[in-house]
Amino acid sequence: MKKLRSEIEGLKNNLSKIQNDEYKECFDKVFSILTIMSDKIEELTVNQEAIEENMKFMDDDLTDIQDELFEEVSIDELNDMEDEYTEVNCVHCNKPIFIEQSALSSNDEIPCPYCHKNIKSK
Ligand SMILES: [Zn+2]
Repeated sequence: MKKLRSEIEGLKNNLSKIQNDEYKECFDKVFSILTIMSDKIEELTVNQEAIEENMKFMDDDLTDIQDELFEEVSIDELNDMEDEYTEVNCVHCNKPIFIEQSALSSNDEIPCPYCHKNIKSK
């Protein structure tokens, strides 16, 4: 960013030696555009750095959450947990619902999370 600015400045100095008024006016406009653009680039760069920083924080947060979620749960335990759950379709809206096997067999009435009717009977 500094390099770009000093190059623009250098170019400006070189061209300031030009005596022709028409060229001068033209170059002045070019420089005003260049200045606006380099300001804008700097602004974008700063914003992007801020976004990258935020992403890094979010990534760290996610890693923490993942660590907490999967803490001390082995593959076997995960399989066990899966076994206890079964997938049923609501008789009313036919949406798939994951439910504990024991809850399914011991309860006559289970409210559907989608349509709120009893998923076991019409
Ligand atoms: Zn339903």
